[in-house]
Amino acid sequence: MTRPMPKSADISTLHGTPAVPGVVAAPTVRPAPRIRIDTDTEPVAVADRESEVHALHRAARSVAERLHDRATTSTGVAAEVLSANAAMAADRGWLGTAEDLIGTGMHAARALVAATDQFVDMFRTLGGSMAERATDLRDVCDRVLAELAGTPEPGIPTPERASILVSDDLAPADAAGLDPNLVVGLATSLGGPTSHTAIIARQLGIPCVVAVDGLDEIAAGMKVLLDGSTGRLLLNPDPETAARAVTAYCASVDRTTRWTGPGATADGHRVEVLVNVQDGAGARTARRVPAEGVGLFRTELCFLDRESEPTVEEQMTCYREVLDAYPEAKVIIRTLDAGSDKPLRFVGHSAEANPALGVRGYRIAARESGLLERQLDAVAAAAADNGHAPWVMAPMISTAAEAKAFADPVRARGLVPGVMIEVPAAALMAEAILEHVDFASIGTNDLAQYTMAADRMSPRLASFTDPWQPAVLDLVARTSAAGHRLGKPVGVCGEGAADPLLACVLAGFGITSLSAAATAIAAVGATLATVTIDDCRRAAAATLSTTDPRAARAVARSIIVGDASW
Ligand code: PEP
Ligand code: MG
Repeated sequence: MTRPMPKSADISTLHGTPAVPGVVAAPTVRPAPRIRIDTDTEPVAVADRESEVHALHRAARSVAERLHDRATTSTGVAAEVLSANAAMAADRGWLGTAEDLIGTGMHAARALVAATDQFVDMFRTLGGSMAERATDLRDVCDRVLAELAGTPEPGIPTPERASILVSDDLAPADAAGLDPNLVVGLATSLGGPTSHTAIIARQLGIPCVVAVDGLDEIAAGMKVLLDGSTGRLLLNPDPETAARAVTAYCASVDRTTRWTGPGATADGHRVEVLVNVQDGAGARTARRVPAEGVGLFRTELCFLDRESEPTVEEQMTCYREVLDAYPEAKVIIRTLDAGSDKPLRFVGHSAEANPALGVRGYRIAARESGLLERQLDAVAAAAADNGHAPWVMAPMISTAAEAKAFADPVRARGLVPGVMIEVPAAALMAEAILEHVDFASIGTNDLAQYTMAADRMSPRLASFTDPWQPAVLDLVARTSAAGHRLGKPVGVCGEGAADPLLACVLAGFGITSLSAAATAIAAVGATLATVTIDDCRRAAAATLSTTDPRAARAVARSIIVGDASW
């Protein structure tokens, strides 16, 4: 069915959440519709129920085998997702539920849909990353239904020419199978920047915008200009605008590849550009990008698979690997940030109704006897061996008393104490907190989650947890100002620092360092090098007069890039 064309000029630009940077102009394609199940059928006769069960298992097995085969010819996240979906197609609990329903007289297809509905409800109730599995399961269900009906697998068409794929939400197995030469852009109405679709698009290098409002307005075949860095889609662009936008993006890619650091604006205002790492191997790989040091070493990620607490010796070995990768540079080690989305098995997490608001991060250290002290001993030992004092910061600090309680044992070991500012209370009390420590680093991921009361893992709340939310920017500005009053550095190490445009705004707020994933470093540094600190300050001030992320991005963009053309 053809979709209606947009009727007025005011819907010619659609907005979503940027997920993978890049600018492309191409016609659109849409996936084939899902199979509809006839619910108005006679119950299956008792004698025929066994053959329905067999048909179900045969179909599920074929789908599992096909997904497994595709996993073996894929790499990275795509392979992981395809394997996980293959396992899902063989899941005994899911198929068993469908089998039970067939036993009540339902046809295999209807039973499978009902079983899927039950599991999807359960995933959604559990929330967080489990909610994401709902999309995976629906996709696997659709594939088994197609197999049962003897129709081709549902999913995306193979476009005949380079196209932008437009869809409600892409099934992970479809995302994993995309050919980046033919699918040159991706836009979805659901999903967040950390959804499987976005992660796979990032791995494949396909510019992507998620959570787009009004995506239904795009008819298959309509020409679209997609900007994955700003989250915008221009419908039916005139060829000149499209060509100009693509050329400007190519020029920025060229600048990025030539950027060698150190971090500074065009007029020489220094902003350190640092890298986020999770272990020694990651730190050694990150040496390939021109970061000046490590702005966030997430130590908990070294120990996610541990059943028992790593010994001081074992911890020391891990920490020293990272220090050794940056022998002369600043390294900021974060103490264990366990709990919520990163539970550690060896930490006695008790069951909590709201783990993100529970005993997590520094709050665990304050209750679990000796855990923090042993970690600080390991950091101090690694530093002694290595010969320079790393900075050490605590996650999830909420009060000045916590900052003081953390700083004392850190200083006692000759290390430099700091805190993460991730809780709105900490941002509001930043000056009192900074009195006790030597630096702060703002975690925009959690700061956005707590400021907006929106689960950062929820794909349906991505627009709330956008670091461009003016309320979040306001708290960043206040924290930075507190640092300036006390003459103490305040950096940003959440995802916000990985967005080149936002990086300029953060510099404008007076942020002294930006720390991001290795893949984002060069684009951040290169963009910063194109603007003056005055423009950064003007852009930062302008964002505070806006009331939503879209307006904040637009006003910053018009000052930093000078592009308000679409
Ligand atoms: C943050 O919250 O922004 C942050 C950097 O910490 P994490 O993402 O590890 O919670
Ligand atoms: Mg955090």
